[in-house]
Amino acid sequence: MPIRFYNTLTQKVEDFAPAHDNTVRMYVCGPTVYNYAHIGNLRTFTFQDILRRWLRARQFETLHVMNITDVDDKIIRSAVQQNISINDYTKPYEVAFLEDMATLRLQRPEKIVRATEHIGEMVALIQALTEKGMTYESDGSVYYRIAKFPEYGKLSHNDFGGMIAGARVDVDEYEKENARDFVLWKQKKEGEPSWDTPIGDGRPGWHIECSAMAMKYLGDTLDIHAGGIDLTFPHHENEIAQSEAVTGKPFARFWIHAEHLIVEGQKMSKSLGNYYTLRDVIQMGYQPEAVRYLLASVPYRNKLNFTFDGLKAAATSIDRLRNFELRLKTDKFSNGSPEDGDKRSAEYLRRFEEALDDDLNTANALGVLFEFIRDTNTAMDSGAFFAANVAPALKLLDRFDEVFDVLKPTVAEGGMSDEEIDALAAERNAAKKARNFPRADAIRADLLEKGVILEDTKEGTRWKRKA
Ligand code: AMP
Ligand code: ZN
Repeated sequence: MPIRFYNTLTQKVEDFAPAHDNTVRMYVCGPTVYNYAHIGNLRTFTFQDILRRWLRARQFETLHVMNITDVDDKIIRSAVQQNISINDYTKPYEVAFLEDMATLRLQRPEKIVRATEHIGEMVALIQALTEKGMTYESDGSVYYRIAKFPEYGKLSHNDFGGMIAGARVDVDEYEKENARDFVLWKQKKEGEPSWDTPIGDGRPGWHIECSAMAMKYLGDTLDIHAGGIDLTFPHHENEIAQSEAVTGKPFARFWIHAEHLIVEGQKMSKSLGNYYTLRDVIQMGYQPEAVRYLLASVPYRNKLNFTFDGLKAAATSIDRLRNFELRLKTDKFSNGSPEDGDKRSAEYLRRFEEALDDDLNTANALGVLFEFIRDTNTAMDSGAFFAANVAPALKLLDRFDEVFDVLKPTVAEGGMSDEEIDALAAERNAAKKARNFPRADAIRADLLEKGVILEDTKEGTRWKRKA
């Protein structure tokens, strides 16, 4: 069965394949760098990472573009307040975002592009819209006339029949009850940054940047456009109106939206103040892998209810996975007939992959994996798991980690490397042999304090990091 995704545009789960060759042309709306990202934002970016990784695991290539919104109302307001340029204001938050991505092991898109470096492309697109009669000017600003785009509403499935022609907004976000002509280009305001261009001295509205940058790097029709569910309207609806009015072609074939991360029933958001950044959570002592696991474990179309108990449960799950991996890699299994065990691994691998093909059902995929672990542990305990079964079992674990990427522990800054731990473990063994038990115990306690657990088994001592 091919990969399937729920397409917001058609409201159906559809088989997916790229339109041309083997490359998936994918655009995702990136962060607005006016502050640190919160873990709600990072849920959406983790979903995009899972999407990207699964496409690649299924042998597609990706041309994945993410924008950075480095000019908008909030950014300008804050920069003006601090009396610095918008670039000086946004730079540290952009760096912090890229660090957060790396901490959460989110793969880098092939291209990351900044809005302020594409003003020329945005102006050209606004001029093309004007030539088609889709815009009008008012008080030096340029607006999109949505009454001239009859398909307006097709993505958010809103009927805008009763809308008031000519009513307009200058802000970038608005409620759907009153769809309005939206601003493409805002006239310069005193004391605010602006660009002097053929359509006037001013700055772009928010929506135009994504149309301009997506089409520049990916062509008129994208395979996938993704983002958080709140972007469906007005942002993505407006992107469609801007792009399709100029090209006459569908702007994106698949629109894929991630549901929100919520806290006590409400969307995590800066304006509600109910948010944690990744840094907050790590400071509390949680490992980045636990955050990644939690964010990835709920299928993207379900709301994710964030709790610290959930985060602890994620750490426990990772522990179980690492224990299983350790057992596979260090236990000694006898030689015997591997057919049944190999069949078991292959069947679980098939089911695991099928779950992800099915609209990235990560919860089902994890369910299959833990069933496999239970089943395999039972076989191991009863002597029905043989040395030759190790490789096929590890294959499933590798497949899992290709997407979830949580098995390798994060080494904290200044933390111990694997080699240092090996050396201390060897020193402890030597101390034990020499019957220097106080020294052996001291090494064990010291390692434990640094998050490393030593386990003495009949095959010798092995160690693992705490999740
Ligand atoms: P922003 O930096 O505000 O432009 O948002 C970046 C991304 O985070 C967008 O795709 C939003 O849809 C998404 N987002 C914002 N709040 C949440 C949330 N509570 N849960 C999941 N995604 C969110
Ligand atoms: Zn966008």
